Amino acid sequence: MDTSGEDIKLDRPLVLATKNRGKISEFKELFRGFDLEIKSLNDFGPIPPVIEDGETFEDNAVKKAQFTAKLLGLPAIADDSGLTVRALGGEPGVFSARYAGEGATDEANNIKLLDVMRRVENREAAFICVLAIAVPRGPALIYEGRCEGVIAREISGNQGFGYDPLFYYPPLKKTFAQLSEAEKNRVSHRGRAIAELKGELDKVLIWLRQRLAEVSF
Ligand code: IMP
Repeated sequence: MDTSGEDIKLDRPLVLATKNRGKISEFKELFRGFDLEIKSLNDFGPIPPVIEDGETFEDNAVKKAQFTAKLLGLPAIADDSGLTVRALGGEPGVFSARYAGEGATDEANNIKLLDVMRRVENREAAFICVLAIAVPRGPALIYEGRCEGVIAREISGNQGFGYDPLFYYPPLKKTFAQLSEAEKNRVSHRGRAIAELKGELDKVLIWLRQRLAEVSF
């Protein structure tokens, strides 16, 4: 069998289990050069949202990928990510998006984090990203990326999203919100998880093809 990634085809599209345009463009870039049809949740009719109630990033990523794969009868890839702060026992963690409450804005989450950290000396933190790849039935494949930094004492920069203005990355002496998208992608948790996956994409495509051949819809 020819196992060079770029020759491996899937007989159906791979669905990105997200509606987030930033994530869609990062994933499309990942799969560039491969003979794959890539779709996202924006290409289908109304799809019920997945309740992200897992205790870990992995739980949530797997849940999103498996739910989408099962619903659409297609292979799916999902990610879950967030910020973990050492002095806060890993918080906000899986609650990163709603740290200041359900539907909270990025600004509200940043203000809450600054407030909670006001008297905290140990500012070590990490962004984590878990990618899960699933087929309609059976186990999922997992890839993880991590980026270490510190929580700044004030917000700086206006690029990116989420906690980027508070996440200071010592090797570049800037917050993530002071980096261009390309600079951030080279070092970020999501960039690293995607790089891990990219390094094994040929094996992943073979795995997907075998799993899909076993499943009868
Ligand atoms: P999700 O992976 O889309 O569920 O994102 C969870 C939350 O983690 C986001 O709403 C952000 O608050 C935070 N987060 C994840 N990745 C990043 C990042 O690259 N920069 C800043 N915040 C992030």
